Amino acid sequence: MIIEQSADNSGRIINYLRLSITDRCNLRCVYCMPEEGIDFLPHSEILTYEEILHLVRLSVQAGIRKVRLTGGEPLVRKGFIPFLESLCRIEALKEITLTTNGVLLKELAAKIKACGICRINISLDSLKAERFFQITGRDCFDRVWEGIQEAGRLEFNPIKINVVVMKGTNDDEIIDFARLTLEKPYHVRFIEFMPVGTDNGWSPQKFVSTKEIHEQIGNLGVLNPVSSNSLDGPAQRYILEGAKGQIVLIGALSNHCCKICHRLRMCAEGHLRGCLFSDQEIDIKTPLRGNKGDAHLLNLIHQAIKNKPREHGIERYGPRKCVRQMSSIGG
Ligand code: SAM
Repeated sequence: MIIEQSADNSGRIINYLRLSITDRCNLRCVYCMPEEGIDFLPHSEILTYEEILHLVRLSVQAGIRKVRLTGGEPLVRKGFIPFLESLCRIEALKEITLTTNGVLLKELAAKIKACGICRINISLDSLKAERFFQITGRDCFDRVWEGIQEAGRLEFNPIKINVVVMKGTNDDEIIDFARLTLEKPYHVRFIEFMPVGTDNGWSPQKFVSTKEIHEQIGNLGVLNPVSSNSLDGPAQRYILEGAKGQIVLIGALSNHCCKICHRLRMCAEGHLRGCLFSDQEIDIKTPLRGNKGDAHLLNLIHQAIKNKPREHGIERYGPRKCVRQMSSIGG
């Protein structure tokens, strides 16, 4: 039976699943993986595509209507396109989107579009090739930029560009990124740097709030607010006067967005996680592989939804140490 919606213990309707399909990545972003790297999961510990599809169908029964594929880097996983085709056949999903670093996008964009995906998020933290290399550890700026152009040619709409803003690293490019929206229909999403994982280089000195970003962009022109829809989550959207694209501010830390957070996450190894910043997880892979049956699995999904932490509390208690790195949760 498909139910319309499920609420957690705080009354929030949880309808959005962020699904990490791999912990592997072809970049080494300083804020995502620790400097010394991480031990990747053995392949046998990662959910197979069949297992993922099974769990998504059950999640739909628990009220999930939107899925975002993430990673690691989702495009590096073998067999991604056939998997995406199967996912897109799950009718009750109203929206399927994808977050990618864009390195493999030029080659795969047409196939992704042919599956029926029209919306895409591409991460890009610098418009300067050398700085891109410093942040990501790979000399791939041109490939990512070509991937963005290709997505434009194929009329993905919107093309969202995710920028993690870090003081002293790329905050001097806020205006350049904002200017992009004057010429291109991109949604440039400025994301506050988050303290996730054991050591991702976060410090209060590296943090730039969405308030500061708003102020800086205000020097470029008037920012007119755009109304949000129910699947937008914590994003605050604006249009610079005369612009073709949008400016989006994601105040993950400063903006108390927990009250309207409607997300559930599933890591590549099959753990359900209610909050990015909390290591409270439910292992759904073991019972799935132990043939415990769909009723049991569905019950676990409902439990993960019910017990979603009410808030991350970082603004009051300071950054938490969570064991998982962002690369293994999926952002
Ligand atoms: N590899 C894909 C990519 O680069 O978009 C998907 C995974 S990545 C973990 C998803 C998003 O999380 C990216 O936009 C990335 O910039 C963002 N992210 C990773 N670590 C972050 C952090 N510490 N603070 C804010 N955003 C972060």
